[in-house]
Amino acid sequence: MAVNVWGYLKEYEAEREEILAAVTAVLESGKLILGPHVAAFEEAFAGYCGTRFGVGCDNGTSAVMLALLAVGIQPGDEVITVANTAVPTVSAIVSAGGVPRFVDIDPATYLMDAGKLEAAVTPRTRAILPVHLFGQCAAMEAVREVADRHGLRVVEDCAQAHGAARNGRVAGSMSDAASFSFYPTKILGTYGDGGMVLTGSEETAKKLKRLRFYGMEKTYYALEHGYNSRLDEIHAAILLGKLKHLPDYIARRRQLAARYDAELADTPLTLPAVAPGNEHAYYLYVARHEKRDAVIAGLKERGVNVNISYPWPIHTMTGYTYLGYKEGDLPETERAAKEIFSLPMYPSLTDAEQDTAIAALRDTLDAVGA
Ligand SMILES: *Cc1c(COP(=O)(O)O)cnc(C)c1O
Repeated sequence: MAVNVWGYLKEYEAEREEILAAVTAVLESGKLILGPHVAAFEEAFAGYCGTRFGVGCDNGTSAVMLALLAVGIQPGDEVITVANTAVPTVSAIVSAGGVPRFVDIDPATYLMDAGKLEAAVTPRTRAILPVHLFGQCAAMEAVREVADRHGLRVVEDCAQAHGAARNGRVAGSMSDAASFSFYPTKILGTYGDGGMVLTGSEETAKKLKRLRFYGMEKTYYALEHGYNSRLDEIHAAILLGKLKHLPDYIARRRQLAARYDAELADTPLTLPAVAPGNEHAYYLYVARHEKRDAVIAGLKERGVNVNISYPWPIHTMTGYTYLGYKEGDLPETERAAKEIFSLPMYPSLTDAEQDTAIAALRDTLDAVGA
């Protein structure tokens, strides 16, 4: 039995009727763009995350860009983030006209090391963009403290953290604007692309609605430069249905994580560390080993597919060398990129599949001699 790192078909089988009904309702409604499903999903998702306003958009990359623009990023403004994230976090900063600056990570959680923030602030810094990577919230209290001391805006990248919480607050409610992706693999995902920005500010929400709609409030009249970044009615209808299942998806992810924790505790792998105050949503279950590449090869031979998120730190990529960083600038980020890998993790992964993955991993670790 091959075990995949992610899959959606079993989940689709279980939810087929509601998904097809949601799609049909849109097709028969006579309203395909910015209609009642988008509005209903915006309200429901903002409510779930404990914030006031949601503005749907076309994907998570646009969500980061729109969030930055909405909080006032101007051309040339520096935005501090991390280099161990999905490329879109950084490409969105550039698309917003900003200049990405990187701080290193905490090697235990792989999250932004807030202790390094202060040293990265310059007179041109305008915002801090922490990423709630792998399903766990960054140290938002420390981020907020530095932001307040320097008059900076804070934008959360929540693309991997739907339903994650920290000290009782849900991801997406701890900043000036928070971006989400509903790409299929995410904790809440659709059958295509989708995104959203959350904010507690009515003014920011209004600006976001203009930015995603050619800069318009009334049709055919642009108040400012804008984009076409709308969320489709079809995806909103699907997501509205799936939002009801989100607590179950997260509960199953936590159950799978607890089984990995228990079954792999006596191996030489470094298992995920949960920071105090965090409720991890386990978008990914990330393990660490010095001989990572040999472990992955052994798993593949045994029919278990794993993934590396992410194999190349962004500051070392050709596309971003113009930012002036070099190998060695972010040592913990660079070390982690060589040693981490993520195990099969998605709600419809069965216990039997997980057992196969665990057995293959134990077998491989013995063979690798670690
Ligand atoms: C997936 C992801 C994005 C981009 O989302 P898309 O919907 O694929 O554009 C941005 N940031 C992070 C951290 C992500 O994981």
